[in-house]
Amino acid sequence: MSEKYARIIIDISHEKVDRPFTYRIPESLENKVIMGSCVSIPFGNGNTVRKGYVIEITKEPGFDTSKIKDIISIDEGNEAATERSIKLAAWMKKTYGSTMITALKTVLPASKKQKMLEHKYVLPRLELRELTELYYECKNKKQYARERILKELLDNYGNRIPYELITKKLAVSSATIKSMADKGIIKVESDNYYRNPVSIKDAGSDDLELSPDQKNIIDTVTTDFDNGDKKTYLIHGITGSGKTFVYIKLIEQIVKRGYQAIVLIPEISLTYQTLMRFYRHFGDRVSVMNSTLSPGEKYDQMQRARKGEIDIIIGPRSALFTPFERPGIIIIDEEHETAYKSESMPKYHAREVAEQIAKLLPDGASVVLGSATPSLNSYYKAVNGEYKLFELNSRLSGGELPEVEIADLRLELRSGNRSIFSRTLQEKIEDRLNRHEQMMLFINRRGLAGFISCRSCGHVFKCPHCDVSLSEHRGGKLVCHYCGYEEKISHICPKCGSKYVSAFRAGTQQIEKEVHKLYPQARVLRMDADTTKSKDSYEKILSAFANREADILVGTQMIVKGHDFPGVTLVGILAADMSLNAGDYRAPERTFQLLTQAAGRAGRGTAPGNVVIQTYQPEHYSIQTALRQDYKAFYEEEISYRNIMGYPPVAHMMAVQIWAKDEQDGVRQANRLRAVMEQRKGNSTVIIGPASAAISRIKDIYRMVIYVKDKDYDVLIDIKDILEEYLAQMAKTEDVSGLQVQFDFDPVNGF
Ligand code: ADP
Ligand code: ZN
Ligand code: ZN
Repeated sequence: MSEKYARIIIDISHEKVDRPFTYRIPESLENKVIMGSCVSIPFGNGNTVRKGYVIEITKEPGFDTSKIKDIISIDEGNEAATERSIKLAAWMKKTYGSTMITALKTVLPASKKQKMLEHKYVLPRLELRELTELYYECKNKKQYARERILKELLDNYGNRIPYELITKKLAVSSATIKSMADKGIIKVESDNYYRNPVSIKDAGSDDLELSPDQKNIIDTVTTDFDNGDKKTYLIHGITGSGKTFVYIKLIEQIVKRGYQAIVLIPEISLTYQTLMRFYRHFGDRVSVMNSTLSPGEKYDQMQRARKGEIDIIIGPRSALFTPFERPGIIIIDEEHETAYKSESMPKYHAREVAEQIAKLLPDGASVVLGSATPSLNSYYKAVNGEYKLFELNSRLSGGELPEVEIADLRLELRSGNRSIFSRTLQEKIEDRLNRHEQMMLFINRRGLAGFISCRSCGHVFKCPHCDVSLSEHRGGKLVCHYCGYEEKISHICPKCGSKYVSAFRAGTQQIEKEVHKLYPQARVLRMDADTTKSKDSYEKILSAFANREADILVGTQMIVKGHDFPGVTLVGILAADMSLNAGDYRAPERTFQLLTQAAGRAGRGTAPGNVVIQTYQPEHYSIQTALRQDYKAFYEEEISYRNIMGYPPVAHMMAVQIWAKDEQDGVRQANRLRAVMEQRKGNSTVIIGPASAAISRIKDIYRMVIYVKDKDYDVLIDIKDILEEYLAQMAKTEDVSGLQVQFDFDPVNGF
C-alpha cells in the first residue's frame, strides 16, 4: 500500500511559515488523521514539537520522501476542522490578507475541548398567587430589582430562569438573589449538562398574525429557498416594524425543512428581551453565544450545534462559525453596525463571510439582512439588484414617533448664549425635571482627533482632495488622515471672516459639570469609556438609570444603542457636528444612523418624546434627512458623494496599515510599499498617501496608512498579494522586526 501524506498548516503566525508543510502519516495513525485534524509534528531544524492543522491528505509526497518527517500524534484536545471551515479560512486569507493559521483560528472558535460544568437556574418557590402579591408589594415599595426578577418569574411561571440572564440582562445582583432565596421566595438550582445558557420550554407565545408585508417577505424567501434559488435579502424597516417577528417566522420555516439558522445581533443589542422572544418561540432548540460566556460554555454551545441538539444560534459576529451540519439561513440584524467588521486579522465583514458560507454550502443558504438604517453598502446592492429589497414602513408596536427639532448653535452664539445647551434644550430639561421624567444627553465621540470649525457660520475645514474634515495636529497644523494634506490653522473663517474659529472639545465630563452647575437638583449618571472600565459597570449604570435613580444620563454613543427606557421623554444630541466631522468618508452615514437611533430612544413609553439635535450645520443633508426620517433621500445624497469621490460602495478601498518602531524608517518603508503598489496598479487604481493614521502614535509605535481605491476588488487583492510577497522577501534579507503591515478592505473602523 502506498504511503499517505498530509499537508499541514503550522500553528505559528508568521509570513515565513505561512504555507502548508508536508508530513508522512505513520501507519499507526492511518485512517485516524483526517482532513482538519489537529496534530503534533516536529518542526524546523531542532524538531521542536508544534501543533498544526491538516488541510489536505494526498498520496503525492511532492518532493524527496527521505526528507519528509512523520506526524507524531493526533491532538485529542482540539476538535478537527471541517472541510468547509478550511475552505472558508482559505477564502478569508485570500480576501482579507492574513496568514492561513490566523484565518483557521478565526473560523474555529472554541475548538479546545472543555469539561462539562454545572449551570445555575432560578425558580420560584411560591404559588402563583403569593408571587403575584409579592410582586405588587415590591412594585409599591419601589424595590425595582426584586420587581424585575418577580416579573420575569411570573411571566414564565413554571419555568426556570437562567441565573446568568438574571444577573446580566436583568442586572439583579447575586446578593439580591441570595437574600430572596434565603427568604424562601426563590430557589437556585444547578444542572450538569452541556452548559446551556437557556432553558425555556414554553413555545409559541409570540404567535401574532403576520401583516401582509411580513407575510410577503416570508413567502418570497421560502419560495426562493424551496426553488433552490437562495439569495441575499435586505429588510429595511424602522424599529418596531416587525423585523424580529419576521426573523422568527422565517427561521421556523427553514428549521421545519431540516436546516439550521444563525442569527447575528450586535453584542450590545443582545438584550434580554430579544433573546427571550427567541427562547419563547424555540425553547431549548436555540442557544446564545456572547462574550460573557466562559470558554466552557462556548465550547458546549459548539458541541450542541455539532451534535444537532440545537437548530438556532444567536450571537455576535463569531456565531457565523457555529459548526452546524446544514445551515439554511443566516440573519444579520442591525446589519449597518460596525461591530460586524473584525478589527483584528483577518479583518473580515460578517456580511461578506455570511455570503461566502452560503456559497460554500452544497445546498446554499439564504442570507437576510435587516436594519432601520441600512448600510450604504447593502442598500446600494439592493438598488442594483444584487440583494432583494423589502420595506416595512409601519410601526406595529404602537407608540408615537418622537418630535424632532434642530437647535442652530450659530444662532445661539449670535444671541449671546455661550452654554453647551441651546435655549430650547434648557427649557425642555427644566420642564422634564419639574415633571420628574427622565432624559438622555448624548455627545458623540466618534472622531479620533479634533476638527476645527467656525462657530459663526458653521464652516468646516476640509481636505481639498478627499472631501473629509481636517484634523488638528500639534504645531498649529490641520491634517488629512487619508492623503496627508496639511495646512496651517487659520484663525479667521475663510467663508464669513469671523474670528470664532476653534476646535470642538466638549466631552461627557464637561457636560456633566455643566448640568450640575445649571441644575444642581438634578441627579446625573455618566456613561463613557472612563466610567465603564470596570467589569459590570456598564450594566450597573444602565440598571440604576432604569430604576430611576437618576434624572439625566449623560453619555457617548454607547447610551443610544439597545436599551429601552420607558421613562425617557427627552433626548438631547449636544453636537451632531462631532460625528459629521470625524475626518472620515463615512461620517455623514454614521451621523444619520446615530441621529436616527438616538431619536428612537425618546418616547418609548406612553408619554410622547422630544428630541433636540444641536448643530452648527443644520442644513447638512445628514441632519435634514434624519430630521424627516427619510432614508431614501439620505441615500441619494450620500451615494452621489461616494460616486464623485470614488468611495465604497461605489469603489472598493484597501487600507494598508503600517506600524513602525522608528518614525523615519516607517516613512521610508511606507514609501517603498507605495512604489511596489505603483507597479501593479490598474488604469483606474488610485493610491493615496502614505499619511499618518488618525492616531499617529500609540505606545511609541508610529502608525501610517496608504489607501488604495479601485472599482475592482480583485485589483486590490492583487496588490495585497504583491505586497505580502514583497514583505516576505524583505523579511529574508532585512531586519523587519520594527515593522508591521496589515490590510483592511473597505474599512469601517477608524485607524
Ligand atoms: P423590530 O424588530 O423591527 O423592531 P419587532 O418584531 O420587535 O420589530 O416588532 C415590534 C413590536 O410589534 C413587537 O412588540 C411585536 O410583538 C409587534 N409585532 C410584530 N409583528 C406583529 C404583527 N404581525 N401583529 C401584531 N404585532 C406585531
Ligand atoms: Zn464662518
Ligand atoms: Zn486628503
